[in-house]
Order: sequence, then C-alpha cells, then structure tokens
Amino acid sequence: MPRRHVHCQTLFTGLEDQARHDQVLIIEKGMFTHVGPRQTAPQPLPGERVIDTGGHFVMPGLVDVHTHLVFGNAKSEEDIDLHVSPEFRALRGLFFTQHVLAAGYTSVVVPGDAGHCSIAVRNAINAGMFSGPRIAASSNVIANRQSLNDWFPSWVGTPEYFSGRLCATRDEQIAEIRRQAKDGVDLIKIAMDGPHMRPNGEHIAAFTQDETRAMVEEIHRLGKKVAVHAYGREAVLYAAKAGVDVIFHGFFLDDACIEAILESGSHLAPTFTMLANNVEFAEDYEPSTRCGYAAMQRRVIEVGCRNLRRAREAGVPFMTGSDSGFAITPYGEWHAREIEIFVDWLGFSPAQALRAATSVAARMMPVAQQVGAIEVGRRADFICVDGSPLQNVSILQERERIRDVYLGGHHVEAQVPGYDPYKVSDFNTVKWAELHTRQRAVEMGKRSAPEPEQEVGQHE
Ligand SMILES: [Zn+2]
Repeated sequence: MPRRHVHCQTLFTGLEDQARHDQVLIIEKGMFTHVGPRQTAPQPLPGERVIDTGGHFVMPGLVDVHTHLVFGNAKSEEDIDLHVSPEFRALRGLFFTQHVLAAGYTSVVVPGDAGHCSIAVRNAINAGMFSGPRIAASSNVIANRQSLNDWFPSWVGTPEYFSGRLCATRDEQIAEIRRQAKDGVDLIKIAMDGPHMRPNGEHIAAFTQDETRAMVEEIHRLGKKVAVHAYGREAVLYAAKAGVDVIFHGFFLDDACIEAILESGSHLAPTFTMLANNVEFAEDYEPSTRCGYAAMQRRVIEVGCRNLRRAREAGVPFMTGSDSGFAITPYGEWHAREIEIFVDWLGFSPAQALRAATSVAARMMPVAQQVGAIEVGRRADFICVDGSPLQNVSILQERERIRDVYLGGHHVEAQVPGYDPYKVSDFNTVKWAELHTRQRAVEMGKRSAPEPEQEVGQHE
C-alpha cells in the first residue's frame, strides 16, 4: 500500500493536554511514520493518497479495557454461563465487535469469558477474515469460593463452559494459568473478591496474599498481563502488592492500597458506567431494584467516588472501561460514558480523561499492538469526530458524531444491521419480572379493589 497523508485541522495525539492545529500524519504499512506541522511535512509523491479530515477532530481510536465481548448483552448470570453454547457466544461476539467499532472504539480488552470465545474472535480478525477492533483476549476468570464468577451455588460449581473457573488450590491456580497461556490469551483475569463480606461489611479477598503473588508471578513469567476484579480494600491491597497490571473497580480502597498501586506501577479502571446505568435506568422498575442491587450500587458510587478521587490526586494512573455486554450496558452504546464520569465525578480534565481512554488504556493491549496515540511508531488507529471532545467529552457518546474510523490507516465501515435480541441472548427464558398477586392485578387495573371488610366486633 502506498503512503497515505492525512491532513488534520485539529489533532489530539492522546499524549498531550492541548489539541494541535494544521498537522499532517503519514502512514506506511499501517503505522504512523510522520506526525508534524503541515509546513514542514514531506510532500506527497505521485500515487500517494491524501486524506483530508475537514473540520473534524482527529484523535486516537478509543480503548475500552472492560468489554465483555461474548456476554451477549446478558441480563443475568444464567444468561452469561448457561443458555448459550460457547460456539454461538463466539459468533455473537464477532457480530457485536461492529457495534463497538461504530462507537469509535478500535481496541477492547475482554476481561474473562469461557474457553476460547474471545481468542477465536481475535484470531479471525487478526487473520484478516473480518474487520473489527483489536482485541486483547482472555479465557475463564480464575475464581475461588469467595469470588465473583463462582456465582452459582457450590453444588453447581464451574463447568467448562462457564466464564469462571474455580481454582481452589494453588496447584489448580497455576495449572489453569499455564493452560490459558498455552491457548493464547493476552491477559488473565483473577476475581479477587465478590459479594462475600465479613459481618463488619468488609469485602473478603478470595485469595491470600501469597496465592495472589504466586499467580501474578506465573502470569507475568509466561508473558501475559493480569487484570483483577477487586471491590474491597483487602483484595485491592493484595493485587497491588503482587503487581497486577490493572485493578477493576477498587471502590473501597484505602491509603495503603494507593501507596501499593503507586509502588507497583499498577492502574485503576473503576468501570463506573455500569453502576451509573443501574442507578439511572434500572432503579425504578427492574427486578434488580427489589433485591436491593441498585440501592447498593448507589452507595458504592458514593464511597467509590470519594476514594478514587483520592487515588487520582495521589497520581494513580486510570484507564477507562465500561463493563459493556450486559443488558444495562449494551455494546456500542455506553463505552464513552466512562470518560464523562471521569470528568464529572473524579475531577479529571477532559484531556486527562481522553488520555485515560487512549494512550493509558492502550497499555493493556498486547505489546505488539502499540496503539492508543498518534505518534511515530504506533499503529494508525484513529477516529474523526464532529465537534471537540476537549470542550465536551460527552459528545463521544453520540454515535452520529463518530464520522470516520481508521484501523491501521484503513478506513473501516462497521456493519451494524438490526438483529433480534430475543434470539441472541436468552431473554425469553425469563417469563416474569413481577409477582402476580391479586393485589398486583388491582394495581394494574385488571381487577377492582376489594370492598373494605366490615370490621367485626365494632359497636355503635
Ligand atoms: Zn466486568
């Protein structure tokens, strides 16, 4: 492919605070080989293509470090693990890569799924069979009895096609890590805690410090990255001390955790978007409200914002992730809400939040990918936005403003045809969200209210 010259009126490199003006990017073999002012840029030779991005805002393709590509917009844990075959999950995941791409996300980190689902999607894209975002693939989440992903009762366990893999002993933990590395994952996720708490309300870490260290050491020894799910102080501390690459959530961390994160060079990816959506959209009517889920999330947001602001002020690097792939966070819809949350809730400047969503988040992509910034030596993944996210980051959530998406210097058109959500996820397995008592029928206007009973024993 001959060299391409891209003219940009406004360019945000993903590494700086300000936009640059009147810049030229030169792309060769899918990589940026020149980034600089127009006056001093090499002139295009005959036969070389010139792309004019007009008045659009040119920036690196966005990176989401927490997209469950094969969960199929699940509405429950059963939806994730039970109803759909691994084969169908992979095909469905491939389909939904297009929704992700259309939203301007050119790279996603997939934090845990069953078997080879995201590995297969990644391989199909990397082989050039399909166009899609770059994928950092994983396999089953390493879980223990007290952690997320071992979410069914102990008599069910974690059959092979579940997204979690129960690894109750050190030998099982190490063996599972080696299996996943052999099968070609880019990262391994450990569920460091889950819903289990001590009577004082503190989350219980599902692994000891020693177990965590041993797992992280082995994962790094095998050349893979480590992501962990950790809400509680204890889990965050163990993970940070062990030197994991990214800690998801981290809401209940304390100063000792912040210190350990800074020392080990780890990152935080709070993934507030799912909680924000739960509180904003589900609270009034979803079954999750009646079991106290949305109220719990509201409280987590309150505490989490306080704690994570402190972490940001102390200099902890943050990455953006959305927990897309659930019915409350469908693919392609809410990825960029996290950027807005970084600004509104955590006190990031727009430029800092955009860096968290590009060059910083890209550290979780495989080293060979080198994406997330517009600079010489990186892959030419970039998007053209109608309007300036430096003025208002929320515009990145408007799909129609993501005008053009380039992957490795190639313009790509995402394929987003309609589909039947009742067939790609098992929405049809839940028949009722309400308890249809006679009282409920009255509330619905299907029955008239009963006559008030004559009070017995009442005398004039
Ligand atoms: Zn998640």
